[in-house]
Amino acid sequence: MPPTNAKLNTFPVFMRVDGEAVAIVGNGEEALAKARLLSQSSAVLRIVADNAGGSLLDFIASTGAVHIDAAYEAAHLQGAALVFAASGDEALDRRVVEDARRLGIAVNAVDRPELCDFFTPALVNRAPVAIAIGTEGAGPVLAQMLRGRIDRMLSPSLGRLAALAASFRASAESLPKGNRRRRFWSDFFAGAPARAVEAGELAEAHGAALELLAQDAPVEGHIALVGAGPGAEDLLTLRAHRLLMEADAIVYDALVPEAIVGMGRRDAERLPVGKRKGCHSKSQEEINALLVELGRAGKRVVRLKSGDPLVFGRAGEEMAALREAGIAYEVVPGVTAAFAAAADFELPLTLRGVSSSMVFTTGHDLKGNSLPDWAKLAISGATVAVYMGRSVAAEVAGRLIEAGLSPDTAVAVVENASLGTRRRFHGTLADLPSLEERADLTGPVMTIIGDAVAGANFEQSEPLAAHRREDTGHEGAASAVAEGVEQ
Ligand code: SAH
Repeated sequence: MPPTNAKLNTFPVFMRVDGEAVAIVGNGEEALAKARLLSQSSAVLRIVADNAGGSLLDFIASTGAVHIDAAYEAAHLQGAALVFAASGDEALDRRVVEDARRLGIAVNAVDRPELCDFFTPALVNRAPVAIAIGTEGAGPVLAQMLRGRIDRMLSPSLGRLAALAASFRASAESLPKGNRRRRFWSDFFAGAPARAVEAGELAEAHGAALELLAQDAPVEGHIALVGAGPGAEDLLTLRAHRLLMEADAIVYDALVPEAIVGMGRRDAERLPVGKRKGCHSKSQEEINALLVELGRAGKRVVRLKSGDPLVFGRAGEEMAALREAGIAYEVVPGVTAAFAAAADFELPLTLRGVSSSMVFTTGHDLKGNSLPDWAKLAISGATVAVYMGRSVAAEVAGRLIEAGLSPDTAVAVVENASLGTRRRFHGTLADLPSLEERADLTGPVMTIIGDAVAGANFEQSEPLAAHRREDTGHEGAASAVAEGVEQ
């Protein structure tokens, strides 16, 4: 590998341009592109174009930029803070560059890096916040790609939050320097004011910030019940990612991959409360108590649950405990396992003329004498997603067949949906009991049953029926971990 030069050949600075003239010389697309970029600032654009194209004229008309409709001469640059040579004509661009230098003005020549005093960055604009991206020789495609990524990471309301922060700067100066002031700002940017701005409640945000200023006691905690999705890191929502990066503590279940927990701050407390079938590391009551305790201690907590927190996630019990303790919380949805499994199979969960409803169930309620409602729905054509269904596969199949669902009904099974390690199986309801015997399935398993399943892509899946009892080795021993939360 060649030695890497960690020094920047260009150094980013933010230049004051408010009310200053910025001169752009050129008639065409290059001039327009620079004008658009600069129009994100409050500089006064001066466009020197004696033969301006239609879109440049439209731009000038709609933005009120100053248009100098004359052949270029050096005097047009007079008093400008920055100059752009964007004529597309090398000789003219050179002239503009030389004139600008003579006048002592920094100049950029579009697509002629050797003539440039400075370069324009790819810009993420959340005014008053700006993130400028420079890639030096690596080129604009990389810069734009990074811009897109960074843009997606930032809340659309960041600008409003920063503007509110600016209006509180003077008041915050009255707080004692050090911890108290730092705490104010960190609670401002990650606590109630930020949440209110995010929700579009600016007056409330202002009030919350005033409250923070007045507060001497430690601030209130906040718990976000966050869906971590089915496992793949990039199926996490942007909001979940943001909250993770802000959290003081992350409380997570066994099915949440370490890679997702690892997206939190390095100094965040990480508290596994993994519930695994048969070996609860913490009871639900203990988890409720832990969340309340962290909330009371003023922590910003992310309670990470696999999939969606409101689907077989016992979020109801945690929310009740938080409500009772008067601790603020919010819920952030996630991609539930059924959706990830369906995507892995290209399986339409609703299918016109075949299935127009869907059931999320565990199958663990089949023990009683009467058939649960969902089974009736299955018989009338609903697509059924069975969570934690591996150990009750035979029961589910048996009861549904007994109740009148055809043994030929299509079934799709995915272990580790959304992950690189996923395994897919297909078959019929009659084949489903074989799942129970499989000791080789150690990851979480999702089963989808219904006529719509017949529309799935089975090219990547193995037949369920191929697996017979004699193939299984040590039966039923391994996969306790996989079932996740029990109901
Ligand atoms: N709240 C979660 C479900 C928790 S219950 C959600 O919305 O997805 C745990 C069950 O979810 C597992 O037994 C399994 O049936 C299912 N599950 C979770 N992740 C899965 C995955 N990656 N692949 C297949 N099934 C999964």
